[in-house]
Amino acid sequence: MAHADPETLTLLALGEPVADQSTVDHLRTCVACGSELDALREVVGVGRETRVERDLPAPPGAVWNRIAAETGAAAPPRRWRALLAVAVVAAVAGASGAVVVDRVSTPPAAAEQVVARADLAKLAGAPDGARGTARVVRTPGRTVLRVSVDGMPAPDGLYQVWLYDGAATMIPLGVLTGGQADMPLPGGVDLRTYRVVDVSAQRLGQQEHGTSMLQGNLS
Ligand SMILES: [Zn+2]
Repeated sequence: MAHADPETLTLLALGEPVADQSTVDHLRTCVACGSELDALREVVGVGRETRVERDLPAPPGAVWNRIAAETGAAAPPRRWRALLAVAVVAAVAGASGAVVVDRVSTPPAAAEQVVARADLAKLAGAPDGARGTARVVRTPGRTVLRVSVDGMPAPDGLYQVWLYDGAATMIPLGVLTGGQADMPLPGGVDLRTYRVVDVSAQRLGQQEHGTSMLQGNLS
């Protein structure tokens, strides 16, 4: 089939359910779409953590039109805000210059259920006292990996969260900014196989897995 369309990838990056099974199947095997989704997830992660000051440039018209088409007037506020965050962060990433950010308010979580958890222990690369937890949190609309860390120094580059099968394959979930982040779990990932949660230190722009700082097994 053709590559997944940008709207679908954006919704997936936001953790929204996508009913189209052929898209889900395609994403399992298509490296191009997979890396585009990874990049969008990274933007979503930044968008959820940050709010951009009002005097920054507006998003490009094409992005804006896509948001309007995607959401319509009846769009739920949560999705609107998330899409807006993606658009604004994408626009700012395209422009240059420093961004002043502060916390975005997120609506209270409804009917959350923790279905697995892991204590994250420090590895050789992490300082004494570094530790964390990871929880697989299911709500009616989405499943996320909620990662909290403590005692970690400010990174040289960034911290990235991965799922690992313990053998050969690591799936990048997103960038950890601040002490806690929710990372949408791809629908096709079997957590019985990808049991290991890994937090790595990455150089900026580094695509491959960097240096493991914290690790633990989901159970
Ligand atoms: Zn594709």
